[in-house]
Order: sequence, then C-alpha cells, then structure tokens
Amino acid sequence: MSSPLAIVTGGSTGIGQCLVQSLSEAGYAVAFSYRPGEPLVASSPPAAGGGRILGLACDVGEKGQVDDFHAAAADWHGAAPDLLVNNAGVQTWSPLLELPEARWDEVIRTNLKGCFLNIQAAARLMKTAGGGAIVNIGSGCNKLAFPNLVDYTASKGGIEQLTKSAAVELGPYGIRVNCVAPGAIITARTELESPDYEATWAPITPLGRAGRPDDVADVVKFFASPAARFVTGQTLWVDGGVFSRAAWPY
Ligand code: NDP
Repeated sequence: MSSPLAIVTGGSTGIGQCLVQSLSEAGYAVAFSYRPGEPLVASSPPAAGGGRILGLACDVGEKGQVDDFHAAAADWHGAAPDLLVNNAGVQTWSPLLELPEARWDEVIRTNLKGCFLNIQAAARLMKTAGGGAIVNIGSGCNKLAFPNLVDYTASKGGIEQLTKSAAVELGPYGIRVNCVAPGAIITARTELESPDYEATWAPITPLGRAGRPDDVADVVKFFASPAARFVTGQTLWVDGGVFSRAAWPY
C-alpha cells in the first residue's frame, strides 16, 4: 500500500516545519506550501523510513494558486490527500482603534480565507477519493479576546466556526474536520515577542513550561489517526492549561 499524502500550509518555518518533519517520519508523503517570494527554509531530508517531501510556493489567500497547489500535490503523489493541515497564519499587534484596514484584510485573508480555500480544494479531492481528515490550526484566540490582536482573534474565532460548519457539511463524505488550538509555543516568530519566551509563559502555565512545536504535531497526528475516527467538529487546546486559567479579582 502506498503512503498517505499530507498537505501542510505554511510549512517552511515554526510549527509548520515541525509538522512536515513529524508527518514525514510518521510515513506520510508531505506536500507543503510556503509564501511566494519568501526564502524557502529547506526542510531536512526525511528520516529513515520517512515519506517524501515536496515544497511549493503558494499564497494561501489566492484561489488560483491554492487550486494549482493541490492539483500539483495530488499529481506528484498520484492520489488525493488523506490529510490537510491548515497551519499558515500571520499576526499583527495593534489596538483596535489604530488597526489599519490593510492589516485587517491581510490577517483575515491569510488566516481565515486561506483556511477556507484550502479546505475547499482538498475536500473536493477527498470527496472523490472517499474521505480524509482536515486539521485547522487555531489559537487560544478561538475563544478568548487577546489584547491588541483584534484581527487575529477575529480570524481564529472564525476558524472555530468554520471547523464546525465544514465538519457538518463534509461528514457525509467521510471527511472529518477538527481544530488544534495551541497555547504559547516556542518558535522563531514567538521568540521575537519577548526576550525570554519560556520565562514569560512558564510561570502562568499550569504544566509549568511553554509549548514546543512537537506538542502540536502530536495532537494533529491524533486527529488524523484512526483513534479519532468518530471525532469531528472539535477544538482541542494544546496549551498546558494556560487558557483554562480564569481571570480572578482576588
Ligand atoms: P510562523 O510565522 O513560523 O509560521 C507561519 C507560516 O505561515 C510561515 O511559514 C509563513 O510564511 C506562512 N504564511 C504566512 N502567510 C502566508 C501566505 N499568504 N501563504 C502561504 N504561507 C503563508 O509561526 P508559527 O509557527 O508560530 O505559527 C503557525 C500557526 O500556529 C499559525 O497559524 C499561528 O497562528 C498558530 N499559532 C501559533 C502559536 C505559537 O505560540 N507559536 C500559538 C497559537 C497559534 P512566512 O515565513 O513567509 O511569513
């Protein structure tokens, strides 16, 4: 039997790069997209026994590019995708009253529309093939209002509802759709946010540390696996408990 095909968006850095490697090591052939014009951070070759890896430039917010990316990946593999992980995302920091319209548009088109376009392209192929799994990468912002992240929070809240709608519509085709909502995960991007990201987040995280990309990848693999065969429309926080902590006045 040939290896399953996983598609990962935004797979050249951070959590996406870890997903590509982890899924490859788990035996998937992996096709990932990266933002056109950006330097490609080459992923390592697959580990022994790992699946093949293909990186293609594709802006997740451009329908034509997304459709071409999925067609090229299916052509490369010779079969429809078994798994799509919508990981690509951007974040801007600004108070609502000062947020420029262009930055709102960029965040919504990348995070939310990008998710929609990739779901549509992958699910059409999965439907013909008889099923598949989709995992959207959300955030604690799916349910909580984070300071100075109004556009990002709106996009991730949208992903929460998109996950449910897609699960309901695509379930009859054997396609499951779930969401992994990471907490504070150490990546090159988040380490720019504070001088010592671990020391910032560990004290307020019940499990006592910041997260790692592989904490996220392992739960994505759970949602993709037969162990989650009757699970769809769900969001699972992978956050060490930090977003379960209530604000408390005394
Ligand atoms: P990164 O910035 O490293 O990863 C995001 C990836 O998406 C980058 O490779 C980026 O490319 C790519 N991307 C951005 N815009 C586009 C586009 N238009 N088309 C294609 N690719 C694009 O950050 P993280 O790894 O930290 O985040 C990954 C995901 O996890 C995001 O969805 C983020 O919101 C989510 N998340 C992360 C958390 C964390 O603590 N790290 C917490 C909660 C959620 P480029 O490098 O060119 O910008």
